[in-house]
Amino acid sequence: MTRKWLKYKPYLHNADCQMHTMYTDGKSMPEAYFKQAEANGIEFIVFSEHIRKVPTYDFLKFKEHVYRAGAQSTVKFAVGAEAKVLNEDGDIDISNELANEAEIILFSFHTPNFPTVASYQKAIRNAALNPWSDVFAHPTCYHNWQNMAMTKEDWAIILNDLATAGVCYEFNKKYPLPNENEIAALNEIRNLQFVFGSDAHESGNLLTQNEIDAFRKLLK
Ligand SMILES: [Zn+2]
Repeated sequence: MTRKWLKYKPYLHNADCQMHTMYTDGKSMPEAYFKQAEANGIEFIVFSEHIRKVPTYDFLKFKEHVYRAGAQSTVKFAVGAEAKVLNEDGDIDISNELANEAEIILFSFHTPNFPTVASYQKAIRNAALNPWSDVFAHPTCYHNWQNMAMTKEDWAIILNDLATAGVCYEFNKKYPLPNENEIAALNEIRNLQFVFGSDAHESGNLLTQNEIDAFRKLLK
């Protein structure tokens, strides 16, 4: 199967792949994100709106809105969705209908259902194998939140599973930077695509060129 993100690969070196609008818990409308991306010299942005199997808003209206706003801008874009991982089987919280509509799908961990490193790793592996998945969003969130100690080897397994599945790893501005174990594993993995995301909830938080450079410098 072909992952949807591959279509956007040429732009990912200068892109912001995670942001949220007023359709969910953000404070800015799509128009403001396009303006800010132009000001910051960002080539490509992903609207990664929170989604559930039963959404709290009309995703198709949201998608239309972004396309309307994007038609006025030089910035390239995709209308994606961020869905939480529901279980160790890697099911994610999005309907097949909306997964078809979303142009990039980020999976993330927002519920404390994975008590051990082994269960977390299994959930990541299966979520990555989920045919809808494109990006492991904010990978430094869950283990820090849950105070889960993870070794470089634990991370090597996860990164290898992402690379094998053809799913991207996100460097995310809102959560802690990867620690030294994570950086060491990140620098050894091959064939893993990295993306950068602000996780902005208002347009002023979009990534700047300096912030993208700082993420890049974490890798050798
Ligand atoms: Zn998230």
